[in-house]
Formats: sequence, structure tokens, C-alpha cells
Amino acid sequence: MSSISTVIPHFVGGTRVEGTSERFSDVFDPSTGQVQAQVALASKAEVDAAIADAAKAQPAWAARNPQKRARVLNRFVGLINEHMQELAELLSSEHGKTVPDAKGDIQRGLEVAEFATGVPHLLKGEFSDAAGTGIDVFSMRQPLGVVAGITPFNFPAMIPLWKLAPAIACGNAFILKPSERDPSVPLRLAELALEAGLPAGILNVVNGDKEAVDAILDSETIKAVGFVGSTPIAQYIYERAAQTGKRAQCFGGAKNHAIVMPDADMDDVVDALIGAGYGSAGERCMAISVVVPVGQETADRLVAALKPRVEALKISSPTDPDADYGPLVTADAKKRVENYIQIGIDEGATAVVDGRQGRVAGEDGGFYVAGTLFDHVTRDMRIYGEEIFGPVLSVSRVDTLDEAIALPSEHDYGNGVAIFTRDGHTAREFARRVDTGMVGVNVPIPVPIAYHTFGGWKKSGFGDLNQHGPDSIRFYTRTKTVTQRWPKPASDSDSTAGGASFVIPTMD
Ligand code: NAD
Repeated sequence: MSSISTVIPHFVGGTRVEGTSERFSDVFDPSTGQVQAQVALASKAEVDAAIADAAKAQPAWAARNPQKRARVLNRFVGLINEHMQELAELLSSEHGKTVPDAKGDIQRGLEVAEFATGVPHLLKGEFSDAAGTGIDVFSMRQPLGVVAGITPFNFPAMIPLWKLAPAIACGNAFILKPSERDPSVPLRLAELALEAGLPAGILNVVNGDKEAVDAILDSETIKAVGFVGSTPIAQYIYERAAQTGKRAQCFGGAKNHAIVMPDADMDDVVDALIGAGYGSAGERCMAISVVVPVGQETADRLVAALKPRVEALKISSPTDPDADYGPLVTADAKKRVENYIQIGIDEGATAVVDGRQGRVAGEDGGFYVAGTLFDHVTRDMRIYGEEIFGPVLSVSRVDTLDEAIALPSEHDYGNGVAIFTRDGHTAREFARRVDTGMVGVNVPIPVPIAYHTFGGWKKSGFGDLNQHGPDSIRFYTRTKTVTQRWPKPASDSDSTAGGASFVIPTMD
């Protein structure tokens, strides 16, 4: 038995299910540092039972026509909107991001659910009339069956919705294994989907840790797994999923650079960098963590303008309407960031602002870290190479555009990158040449809109299809191609029957 009175259960077969494993993980209130609940950690047997339940429910769901499935998603979108405030407060209370930012998290997920309501159109196949004599060829997209999503703590609404909405719209049943650090919103989303008319068993939430993840990966029933989280785990999941022949798309960590050209509007740049570097305490995979000013004069102006803004950040309770950002998610996350600040100093970077000494308006005991700004960060330093995932911005100075393109291009991670300039030719050159999956031009967080696709390159993404947009429909379906010929009946005098052919059919 758990010693904490609130235990967050699983959601299987359309109902909340108490865990039976007797294993639990603490869920904190990051603003006070107190444990506020425990979440049940599913055993392999519990995960297997959820998968079996999903497999039973899936064929009837897939047999509903796409328009009817879309209507359920439509109602789901409506319910999420109705419950926006409740969901945002719940999300904020476990994650620590501010309530307005939590609404953004939900909204970006909701937009993918809206995209998925277009599934009747998205599932249309291709047709070639009279491709050969009397032969037509057409393709159809069919669901895979039972599929799964394993998601990180930092977007507990958005990323589950990115995965589950297209998967379900395509006619699959879905097993969601959300982060054990903030599991309550995914659970509520599953309840709202049921209320919207989704049949029991189509969306299941199993809470857990490695044991639950491994049960998903080793299941022969699950045909595809979508993962988002840190790079070592992304790679592990990609490799293990392959052992049972699953499709896997696994998105990992990031080190997003922002290039600042000498002609950029410095006021706009500073606003953009403060929001993209420190919003959500830097716990975003698309956070800017490295700024690359081109030219020493640009760098001096930039650092001088950033310093007072970083010092003035208001770090406070996520419910404080004036908070710029709230606490980090756990004590470990806070320790990890503070450790990286020390590493940066030891490596010889200039700590223009050291967040360990910064002012925090939130409660004592909360997992707060004030903003840090490093200058003169070089590519041999760990604080440059590794993902810090906290409110730390590093300035790496270069002299030319070519050097600026080389930095993100030669970095192990390749998630997002941004350039700030007024010159269209420079922006175009940069966007075409840089080796990352997503590019912003005067846009600091270039998370693509729902009907384009999201995905990083290199160590930021394993697998070959992106999240949301048309790729999500491709990922959660398989294509069947039908080549058909309807000969005239044998009784007909024009019958085309001509005896067996032993030559490979061609279109000659
Ligand atoms: P994480 O890798 O610790 O956890 C992600 C998921 O994997 C969770 O559900 C967790 O329970 C599970 N997991 C953790 N350890 C495991 C193990 N040993 N075996 C099997 N499963 C395990 O990531 P996180 O800390 O929750 O999230 C932050 C990370 O996610 C950052 O690296 C961030 O950059 C990344 N992220 C990437 C994207 C993207 O689109 N590329 C988006 C959001 C977050």
C-alpha cells in the first residue's frame, strides 16, 4: 500500500483501474517541493492486460467509417476546450509551468486533434484508372491495430495528444504510457475521450516506469510505438522496438541554436531569446539554449542587452499571474541544472548571470532556479555539447555566417534552429544549408503548425517519419495496394482470356 492518500491509477477499458503491482512513484508539487500524490507503476502483467483489452476493442472501432470516428474527435476537442482551465491548473500543479503556459501546452495538442478530425480526407488513397489493359490500381490506408505512445514530462498534454489523436482517428487502439512525473492530465484526457464517445478500450493509459515501457516494447500485439524523451532512452526504445518488428519513431533531446546576424533588430531578438530561452524554465525541447551572434560587435551589444533582462526575470509560483516561469519539475532536475552551471564556470565560460545567486519569488523548498547567462562558450565545453534542459542560455561567438551555420550543423543534436536577420538571402541560405530538422526565420521556437510535421534530425530523432501532419497518418496506417482486373465473362464473345503467361506482367 502507498502511504500517500492520493494514488493516481491507470485508465484501462474505459475506467480508472487501481494498480496491483504495489510499486509507486512520487508526484511532487514542484512549487513547494512536497510530495502531493503517488502514481501506480504498472507491472508487465497489467500492461499486457491493457494491450489485450485494446486488441479486443480495436476491430469494431476500425470498422466505423472515418467520418464517424472524426465526429468523436470533434466532440473530444470541444470537451478539452470546455475543461481548459481545469486541465491547465492540473498540469501546472504537477509540472510547474505557469498556468498560461500550461494552456499553450494543451492548445498545441488540441490543434493536432483538430487536424485529426480531417481523417476522412487524410485517409483517401490513390487511384490509377486503366494502368494496364483493363487494369486499375488503387491504394488504401488501413490502421495497424494496437499502437503505443511513451511520452515525456515536459509537455504532458501536447505530446500525448500529438500521438493519440491521429492514431485513434486512423482506427487504431492506443496505449499511452505518460511520464510518471506528471501523469494526471493524460488520465483526464482519456476520460474526456470516453465522454466524447470513444469506445472503452480504444484509449488506455498505463502509468509506469521501465517495466511498463519494456512490456510495451516486447509486445507482439503492439505494431508501432511513438516515443518522445531524452536521447539515450529514444535510442534504446528504437532498438528494442525493432526486435519485435515494430515501427518506431523516437524523438530525443536537443540543443537549439539561435543565430543573430549584425542586421537583426536587437530589441526583437532579446525579447525572442528571453522567451525562448527561459520560458517554462527552459524545459522545452525547442527552447533556445545557444545563441550565436555573428561578429564581436553584435555579441557585445547582445550580451549587454540580455544581462539586465535575465536579472529581471520573475521566477515565481506557477499560479502567480506575473511569473515569467516557475519551478523545475523535480529536485533532481534542479540539482542537474545547478551542477551544469558549476561545470560551465569550471570549464572557463563567463557567467554573466549565475542563476544560483538569483532572486526567486516562489516558496522555499520549491525546485526553482533563476536564469543563467553564459558568454564565451566554446564547442569543446560540456555546457555546449550536452542538453542542460533548464533556464541557462549560452552565448557562442563567431565571426562569419559560415561559422554560424557550422555550429548547429556539426552539433550531435539537430532539433530546431533559428536565425534573426533582415536579409532574405541570408535567411534563405541558412535555412537551406543548416543540418537540423526545423528552422525558424525570425521565429525563435519554430514548432510547426499541426498540419505540417514536427521532427528533429541526428540524435534528436530516430525513425523516418515525423510527428503530426501528414506523416502521422502515414505512421499510424499501412498502405495496401490493389491491382484489379475484371475480365469479361467467359461466355462473352469478346472475352480476353488467353491462356497462362509465364512472363512477369508488365505495362507493355
Ligand atoms: P525521459 O527520457 O526521462 O522520459 C521519457 C519517457 O521515457 C517517460 O515516459 C519515462 O517514463 C520513460 N523512461 C525513462 N527512463 C526509461 C528507461 N530507462 N527505460 C524505459 N523507459 C524510460 O525524458 P523526460 O525527462 O521525461 O523529458 C525530457 C526530455 O525529452 C529532454 O531530453 C527533451 O529534449 C526531450 N523532448 C524531446 C522532444 C522532441 O520532440 N524531440 C519533445 C519534448 C521533450
